[in-house]
Amino acid sequence: MALRTVQQYVESLRDGRTVYFRGARVDDVTTHPVIGVAVRHAAIDYQMAEDPAHRELATLTAPDGERYSRYYQVPRSAEDQIARSALIERATAAGGTLVVLIKEIGTDALFSLLRTASAMDANGSPEYLPRVEAFYRHCRSNDLAIAVAQTDVKGDRSRGPAAQVDPDLYVRIVERRSDGIVVRGAKAHTSVSTNANELIVLPTRAMSEADRDYAVSFAIPIATPGLVLLASAYDSTAPERSPLEFPISARHKMMETTTVFNDVFVPWERVFLAGEYEFAGPLALAFVEHHRFTAVSYKLPLVDALVGAGLLMADFNGISKAGHVREKLVHLITYAETLRGLTHYAASRSRPREYGIAVPDPLYVNMAKYQFAHGYHEAVRNVQDIAGGALVTGPGAEDLESPETARYYEKFYAGRVGIEGRVRLQALSLVRDLVASEFAGYQEVLAVHAEGSLEAEKLALLRSYDTKPALDLVRRLARLDEGGIDAPGLAGQRQPAEKRNPK
Ligand SMILES: Cc1cc2nc3c(=O)[nH]c(=O)nc-3n(C[C@H](O)[C@H](O)[C@H](O)COP(=O)(O)OP(=O)(O)OC[C@H]3O[C@@H](n4cnc5c(N)ncnc54)[C@H](O)[C@@H]3O)c2cc1C
Repeated sequence: MALRTVQQYVESLRDGRTVYFRGARVDDVTTHPVIGVAVRHAAIDYQMAEDPAHRELATLTAPDGERYSRYYQVPRSAEDQIARSALIERATAAGGTLVVLIKEIGTDALFSLLRTASAMDANGSPEYLPRVEAFYRHCRSNDLAIAVAQTDVKGDRSRGPAAQVDPDLYVRIVERRSDGIVVRGAKAHTSVSTNANELIVLPTRAMSEADRDYAVSFAIPIATPGLVLLASAYDSTAPERSPLEFPISARHKMMETTTVFNDVFVPWERVFLAGEYEFAGPLALAFVEHHRFTAVSYKLPLVDALVGAGLLMADFNGISKAGHVREKLVHLITYAETLRGLTHYAASRSRPREYGIAVPDPLYVNMAKYQFAHGYHEAVRNVQDIAGGALVTGPGAEDLESPETARYYEKFYAGRVGIEGRVRLQALSLVRDLVASEFAGYQEVLAVHAEGSLEAEKLALLRSYDTKPALDLVRRLARLDEGGIDAPGLAGQRQPAEKRNPK
């Protein structure tokens, strides 16, 4: 089996996993009122693989004839990365601007593990690469959904793992046995873990010798004894929401967990790093190199929706020709298309790295991610401005369903000539969900923090930029290497060579 049906995916989640939601143990995530929304959202991945309209992009045929999910394609070229980005973008659009993520993030982790294990192999630790390869084949052949827990809870951010007062604030090895390791600690913000099959754990940062026990990476099934998932309580009213009032967030949800490892046993065949602290940083960085590219690919439908929301509301409000509105629309379009341009350019400049894996150009990936995150709130503000205050003062679904109140709303919320109140309110509901709902707040925090903070992107950007050509240029212009610099403002009044250089 290399492709599962939606039903097979949903059934696979009924495995006795330990999940808590708002203090109560969840018996079955698939029927839970809130987590069930996240399950159905994630199932889009399996629907797309079955759908003739998406099958070509969503799946591939292996040399042995097995059809498998394209997410699992190990990228070997720029073309592979371009196709991966197109699939992520399309799936996110099908998800109402919210990424599906159950294979996107897991395959990012698998690629980073293959690269790092291959580097470790070359460095005299050959045991890891066959384990990672076997796990990759297991996930691909069984079409598994994977969550990735990289971010530790971290405690005092100014201290490294071993320097924390409580040693459990980064996940660590507490016991090495002949058959495996025992790990303890907690990871934060783990997306899609409630509805994944496997969890990959990665180190979150570079580590020193003192952090040896924290340099750990492994994979475990979600139902592993000792693994406890504490589901996020934020934005948890989806089941009570009418799709009329919240067209996106009533149907689409991603669930994060605080992921606790209560002395969890991991057999050696699932351990990918166990004390080799010098590889913790490279593994963390390799994951980020893939995951930020995935991220900028899945931001595209969201920024497109902001552009569309601005255009639609400008039209419905009769203000499309106003100077300040045109300026905001230009800003929105430039914002979205700069992100698209940078994302595609990064993919087209992919270069092979360890294990022959093609990695998108990190400079342009980080520029894209920084540009997205830095400009997101301004783009939201522009849409809020164009749409008007009815985003937060308008009617609820019941108001529009009740003839007693609907007749007022339909009359008084009319827009420009030809736009009835009912139509304008329907558009406002969508725009509210995008820029003024609990879901919108989630997207704002996601923009700033997920896939790394703004500072992390700036650091990566500075690290990836080749300073030499720019420095060479200014050195040449300043004639630094010729031993002479023209004084500023003296252009055109150059002195004879012998005066400038008496020797
Ligand atoms: C919705 C959502 C989904 C996510 N999904 C996942 C996931 O699936 N898997 C996963 O592993 N992670 C996930 N993340 C985690 C994400 O990568 C982190 O939120 C991000 O790395 C920031 O970490 P933090 O939240 O602990 O914030 P912090 O690291 O505490 O950052 C808060 C502020 O402190 C600053 N700061 C932190 N440390 C230092 C320091 N030493 N010196 C100076 N300044 C510092 C930061 O720059 C930032 O300004 C998700 C996050 C969100 C919001």
